[in-house]
Amino acid sequence: MDASAPPATAHRDAGAILSVDLAAIQANWRLLRDRVGRAECAGVVKADGYGLGIAQVAPALAAAGCRVFFVAHALEGVRVRALLPQAEIFVLHGCMASDPEVLEAHGLTPVLNAPGEVVAWAAHARRMGRRLRAALQVDTGMARMGMTLAQADALATDTGLPHAVDVCLVMSHLACAEEQDHSFNAQQREAFERVRRRWPGVRASLANSSGIFLGPDYHYDLVRPGAALYGVAPVAGAPNPMLPVVRLQARVIQVHGVAAGQTVGYGRTWTATQPTRIATISVGYADGLPRSASSRACAWFEGVPLPVVGRVSMDSTTLDVSQLAPDRLHAGSLVDLLDAQHGVDALAAESGTIGYEILTSLGRRYARNYLGA
Ligand SMILES: *Cc1c(COP(=O)(O)O)cnc(C)c1O
Repeated sequence: MDASAPPATAHRDAGAILSVDLAAIQANWRLLRDRVGRAECAGVVKADGYGLGIAQVAPALAAAGCRVFFVAHALEGVRVRALLPQAEIFVLHGCMASDPEVLEAHGLTPVLNAPGEVVAWAAHARRMGRRLRAALQVDTGMARMGMTLAQADALATDTGLPHAVDVCLVMSHLACAEEQDHSFNAQQREAFERVRRRWPGVRASLANSSGIFLGPDYHYDLVRPGAALYGVAPVAGAPNPMLPVVRLQARVIQVHGVAAGQTVGYGRTWTATQPTRIATISVGYADGLPRSASSRACAWFEGVPLPVVGRVSMDSTTLDVSQLAPDRLHAGSLVDLLDAQHGVDALAAESGTIGYEILTSLGRRYARNYLGA
């Protein structure tokens, strides 16, 4: 038996079972690493490893060969540091949202997003009497975080800065990378070229998952994939080259029949047009099945689609299971909400969101099963 699997009773009592294939995450990281050739491939593990569990995901990536990690918050970095004493860990939200002492004490490298942050980090370095590493983020068009090109230029000629701060990475972030033909990609790349010329000899990084698939011009020295590691399709409208990572199996609580004309669920939004068998499963919006999946998404049982009918409730959801012979599904059966054929992107499309949001909303009360650890 897989020693990492929770005990069988935990599975039997859980409303749903989330299986995370760590070997698939490792294979996805290697696929991206091979694709970027000379560039280094980092791993983005913010938001609890995109909802899959940072404590399992980060060590799995490290075991595959990943040495550079990105998190959003300092406390996420502290968690990764406890697991990976040797890793290089960048904190995307910099040193304003968090205490410089926490960053420094745990060997975390802030991504500095504004000149004021550079000043604060340099001041901390002087207080500590040593040079501290930092990344600089320059805004090339995302207009979310990062300093202007002019501010970055000014820092590049600041002769005092190198005494306090060792700028070890310059980076920017793409706004439209999943749309390969979007003209904004090339515009941002041109702006980034200018930044890079101002910081010769410093590592440069532009690409997230999707950016990797824009080609070698976007790879620079370091790429920063997150979503693709976890199976999200990196290129809109193209076949997904990544391996599926998650399976979500929901428990059937009850199966019952409704007559033609009866409605199902809150608000009576769905009406049976013929006698219908309904299975109620033990997963609802509190578990990350979006309420917008109401009457739109499907669960699956041995390849048969089971449409969600009526509103998704907090803890439960109703499915039309009339297509299955009555003896095939009963209370206690498991149906798939996510599987290798119908992954996070498919559920996202049915629910009007993106795979990223499905992953990072995955519930906290699933029995979690880590495969291939
Ligand atoms: C989240 C994030 C990434 C990873 O993006 P994916 O699209 O998940 O690959 C990379 N860089 C920055 C700055 C980010 O915020």
